[in-house]
Amino acid sequence: MARGKMIYEGKAKILYEGPDPDTLVQYFKDDATAFNAQKMEVIGGKGALNNRLSEFFMQGLMQIGIPTHFIKRLNMREQLIRRVDIIPLEVIVRNVAAGSISKRLGMEEGSQLPRPIVEFSYKDDALGDPLVPEEYISAFGWASQHELDEIVSIALRVNDFLSGVMLAVGIKLVDFKIEIGRVIEGDFQRLIVADEISPDSCRLWDIKTGEKLDKDVFRRDLGNLADAYTEVARRLGVLPSNTPKPGKPTLVN
Ligand code: UDP
Repeated sequence: MARGKMIYEGKAKILYEGPDPDTLVQYFKDDATAFNAQKMEVIGGKGALNNRLSEFFMQGLMQIGIPTHFIKRLNMREQLIRRVDIIPLEVIVRNVAAGSISKRLGMEEGSQLPRPIVEFSYKDDALGDPLVPEEYISAFGWASQHELDEIVSIALRVNDFLSGVMLAVGIKLVDFKIEIGRVIEGDFQRLIVADEISPDSCRLWDIKTGEKLDKDVFRRDLGNLADAYTEVARRLGVLPSNTPKPGKPTLVN
């Protein structure tokens, strides 16, 4: 499928026009960035892994009735998605304290939170995606109060789904970020899960060992990021068959 002209380049993905006006082609890059792109590296294989993993999670969500932007995977690095009007919020759900909440509240990383906590950052790289209260979101018109209620409900359903899927393969879902977009369907406007769901935007810890299997491996220099993502994909049974595997080639009869 021929992709159209590039319409946006982000830190880890590029968006191109799709075959019709309601679609886009989402291309997953190998670039890893952290600390608002102050740390950058190209990690061979990351794009292909995130393309597969995001496909896997989005398809699972759709199977339980949560609409997403995913239409189909096109090849190793690209997927066809619905064009949405992105709500300028990072919707973060936390089950266990880690990262910014630990710093902000002086909580030890790994402390179980009393219940899943949903929080919002305003998407603005120049401002460093500041945490914002719900009051700002409706007051500044980023989303209506009604949309906000639905976003929280979607976020908690996504949390239950992802937590269960990860638990089944021995991984604890510590926290994650999603983005939500608006689409028009007939006379109605609807909210759907957009962007990506991958180890770039989740914290995933091995339940037995506590080993980190997410982007913190890169942020905190804990080892090889592609190996960590490969392990997540392997456990979920979604390893791309043509991703080069580390180690010596073996003769296949
Ligand atoms: N997250 C993300 N993109 C961002 C900020 C956060 O995907 O721009 C994810 C992050 O990977 C983690 C969760 O949201 O899974 C919570 O991140 P946190 O607020 O702790 O910030 P961080 O420590 O990553 O700066």
